[in-house]
Amino acid sequence: MKPKMKVGSTLGALLTALVLFGCSNHQKQDSEASDRIKVVATIGMISDVITVIGGEHVAVHSLMGPGVDPHLYKATPSDVLALQAADIIFYNGLHLESKMGELFEKMGQLRTTVAVTKSIPKSFLFSPEEYAGHYDPHVWFDVTLWKYAVEEIARALSEKYPALAPEFNQNAVSYLAELDVVHAYVAEQVERVPPEQRILVTAHDAFNYFGQRYGFEVAGLQGISTQAEAGTKDVQNLVNLIVDRQIRAIFVESSVPVKNIQAVQEAVWAKGWSVEVGGELFSDAMGDAGTFEGTYVGMVTHNIDTIVSALLDSGHD
Ligand SMILES: [Zn+2]
Repeated sequence: MKPKMKVGSTLGALLTALVLFGCSNHQKQDSEASDRIKVVATIGMISDVITVIGGEHVAVHSLMGPGVDPHLYKATPSDVLALQAADIIFYNGLHLESKMGELFEKMGQLRTTVAVTKSIPKSFLFSPEEYAGHYDPHVWFDVTLWKYAVEEIARALSEKYPALAPEFNQNAVSYLAELDVVHAYVAEQVERVPPEQRILVTAHDAFNYFGQRYGFEVAGLQGISTQAEAGTKDVQNLVNLIVDRQIRAIFVESSVPVKNIQAVQEAVWAKGWSVEVGGELFSDAMGDAGTFEGTYVGMVTHNIDTIVSALLDSGHD
């Protein structure tokens, strides 16, 4: 685990540092024309898209690696240095990064900061009651919504580096076509699961957009953010749902402690229904760098394959 600093104390220091050193630093970078564009992104899913669009022209630093929960993330001293050196900063927005999102909004006066979800039409966003005042930020599991993020990233890079715009746009067009194929694949795989078995139970509510787009009922043990712990009542409600609906498999998430879902499984067993843990899903963080699951396309493909195979084949014949 990386050392953690509270955002509150980091914020003041960061802004002071940027005000004092930011401008001179930036001019120095502009003069070093051979340098790659220094990009900082929060979650891996955004970093991956930037790498695809920017190609050899960008050096991407991802703040939150595999297994890291963005809802609970606090800036570290090394993040402050990376942000200070960045030419352009991308984040999800929609309150995913919690306190850090506020920091990026403030930093917008000093650096180019881009919330990649900002051009998604608000009518496509969920406003869950329990997440009062915020939209559900987990838009990446509806591949058609994540295409807006791809377009936003290409637009922001092209505006800031117009000479490279044709290349960025070309990369975006190819990638958007690849995402159409992924979207079709997910929809096709869902069709293999009998409609009455299309219920996805996970550690937290990260899959509402997936459910809406691809026709799955979803239930999470924790809510939209993992900041709120699940209470006894939440556990009981989920246990009853699994037993009543005879759900065959439930899923752990790579960025949420496994024990929460295991506790649900044990409580279900105690009621006489043998639910399986169907595997690990990548919800708010991707898999390891250098693996297929360490890409956006890979995580989406892994998730649907894991969900479908567990729901179709988990020992309940
Ligand atoms: Zn989440």
